[in-house]
Parts: sequence; structure tokens; C-alpha cells
Amino acid sequence: MRKSIMWLIILVLMLLTACQNNIKDNDNKDINIVHNEPINNHKDNKNDNAKAIKVDKSETVENNDSEKNNHADKKGEKVSDSIIAKEPISITEQSEDKKYILNYCDRNDFVSLTIPRTQWDTFIKNDYYSKMPNQENHGMVISQEWSNFIYNIVNAEYDFIVYVLNNDSRPDKLPMNGYYQAIQNDIVGIGTGGFGKPLFNYADLYGDSNSKLQGIIYITHNDVLYDGPILHEFMHRWGNYILDSDYGMCHWGNSNIYGRLGGYDKIVENDGRSIIIKHKRYWEGSYAPFELYLMGLIPKEEVPDITVTEDYSSRIINETDWNRIDGENITVDGKIKTITYTIDQIIGGALSNKNQKANIGERIPSYKDSKKQFNILFVNIDYDDMTEKEIESMNNQIKLLCYEGEYDDEIYNFWEACKGKGSIKSTVYFK
Ligand SMILES: [Zn+2]
Repeated sequence: MRKSIMWLIILVLMLLTACQNNIKDNDNKDINIVHNEPINNHKDNKNDNAKAIKVDKSETVENNDSEKNNHADKKGEKVSDSIIAKEPISITEQSEDKKYILNYCDRNDFVSLTIPRTQWDTFIKNDYYSKMPNQENHGMVISQEWSNFIYNIVNAEYDFIVYVLNNDSRPDKLPMNGYYQAIQNDIVGIGTGGFGKPLFNYADLYGDSNSKLQGIIYITHNDVLYDGPILHEFMHRWGNYILDSDYGMCHWGNSNIYGRLGGYDKIVENDGRSIIIKHKRYWEGSYAPFELYLMGLIPKEEVPDITVTEDYSSRIINETDWNRIDGENITVDGKIKTITYTIDQIIGGALSNKNQKANIGERIPSYKDSKKQFNILFVNIDYDDMTEKEIESMNNQIKLLCYEGEYDDEIYNFWEACKGKGSIKSTVYFK
């Protein structure tokens, strides 16, 4: 009898263990599914949306591979015609002076702002690049009008607004792929740009009743939302305003920081010459440790020492610099003098100019209390309607950029560039 009770207990224990293993297996499976699914979902959604539009407008359905897969997945399950043909929910608002029209469709991750043709022509001639209230240097003044109109319609829930000019390529007169315009800084210890006060908040001038808006980014053509330039522009929220890098103000040029704001990988000496390995100005790869520190994502203890070259301007940078391909090596005769600083020396202002020293010291808030998730309002700018192809491309790029996970390509999304410590969301919030 005692033996049979013992066997019963053993049997129950075995069953319990088996159940636990099952639960573990299922958990693992779930983790895998969660990790992989969103990108596939995005693709499916995109196809579904494209299909819905086709049915609505031309009553033809493209017989592509993904659609075959959709049908195969559903195995005979009847898809309701009303779902396929469902009209997306759209919102259209016009400004009082009839200058601007805002369009939103709930299948999109962005809003679209239609501006007068004359304004478009002026913009791409760079004429709106002028003095801003908060910038002694320059900014796009037109953003105040646009943002004030948009904030009449959307909720003031955004950390950044990204205006994307609906151009296939960069207009000749606009010298950059992107621009960053600072709206506020409430962080101590990240240095100060040439924008006047170290701490400032001009969000109300842009119609932001919550004073949340940190900055506005302009992207001058529609094919680089999911590519280096936008991660570079985001980084300008936090840097470079602390290192007098002697290279195109606000970039890391002369240092081995080697991040989204530039720098080089290392310097090697060979046969009386010095080779700066992989000098870059802008993109590729993740944010550098020092950049992650300034963003408030890692502690200073994780930032390695920083080396700078002493005679950068005269010997390394010359008039051909702007034409050089990012990531190329630069070879110069002789030895390049370098000095290495610790992170404590850097945040103590060892490499800061007089202006930058107005905001140095330990970062407040520290990485423990800093903001790590940011709401972005993506706004397409055009004087005309977007084509279906442009809509699809913009949605696709935004989804990839905001995706919180690794994506199997050479381009880094925000989450990847932050090493999983920061993220961005593209939700559109309406009043
Ligand atoms: Zn820049």
C-alpha cells in the first residue's frame, strides 16, 4: 500500500514536471513569435490596405504572392467583402485662412499637410531658413505656422515633429538631407549650442499647449526616413553641444566617438604616415556610448575614454571634405597628435568652449530617471496629393524606423541604434 502511494506521488510529480516543461516551451515559442511577428504583420497590413484601396477604386485585385499566402493561411475561411471593401476613416481639416489642409487616414502612421504651391517653391529655395526665436543661428521659420495649425487638430502629445518634404530627391538649394530645430532643453549637463540660454522652452510658440515638444526635424526628401539622416537629426536633440570639436559645429569630427554625429574609428601609423580609419560624418551603426550617455540611456561608467586630434582643421579637413564618402580612411603625412580624456573630464568641460560651459556637469536627469520613449508626429509636406506609392513607402519606412527589435538589414532603426534602451512611437493622437 505504502509503495503504491509512493508511486502515485512520483506519477503526480512527473505529470507536474511535464506540464511545466510544456509551459516553458510555449513561453519560448511566444517569445519567438512576438520577436518576429511585427515586421511580418506590417507587411501583411500593408498588402491588406493596398488591396482595400484597389477594391474600392478599381475593383481589381493584384494577384501577388503575399495575397496567395494570405488565402493559404485562411484555408477556406470566407473573408467578408465588407471588411475588404471597408473605407478607411479619414479626417480632413482646413485652416481658417484656407492656406493649409491636414489629411489623415487611419491606415497611415502619419498626417499629411497640404501647403500652397508658392510656399512650397519658397521653401525649397531655402528662404525660410532664417533666425528663430530660440536660435541665434538659423531655423526654418515656417515651422511655427505649420505647427500652430496642426496643434489645433492633434493632441499635444509629441516629443518631436518630423516634417518630410515629399521630394524624390534632395532639392538643389537645400544643402542637407535633414535639419534639427531645437524647441526646448530641460536637461542639465549636455552642453549648450549657440542657441542662447542653456535651458529653454519655446513649445508654446509652436502651439504645443502641453510644452512637450523638444524639437522639429526636417527631412528634405522622402526616401531617407528609414536610413541614416533621421537618426543623426534625432541625436542633435542631445548633442553635440559639449565638445568644441572644431568641425561643422555640433558634430564629433575630430574625435574617436565614432557615432551618429561622426568621428573616426581609430588612427594607425604606418611608414611615416598616419591613417585615420573610417572617418565618418553622419551615419551607419548604432549610437556611440558617449551619445547614449547624453541621451540618458547609459551611465557615464559605460563610456570609454575619448581621444581627440590636436590639429584637426589644418591637416585633416580640407575643401574636399564635403565630397568625401562617409566611412573612408584618410591618410596624412607624419604623426597626428592626439590627447585622451576621461568621461569625467569631458562632462567637466575639459573640451568645451565658453558657451558650452554654461551647461556642464553630471547629467540631470540621470539615465535612471530619463525619458526613454518618444512620441513622434510624422508630417508629409506637399502642395499636391501623395501618390499611393508614396503613401506606401512612407508607412513602410516609419514602421521600420519605429520597430522595437532587430531587423535583418544593414540599416539601423531607432531601437537598434539605442541598443534596445530607447524607442519611438508614431501613434497619431487627435483631439
Ligand atoms: Zn548634424
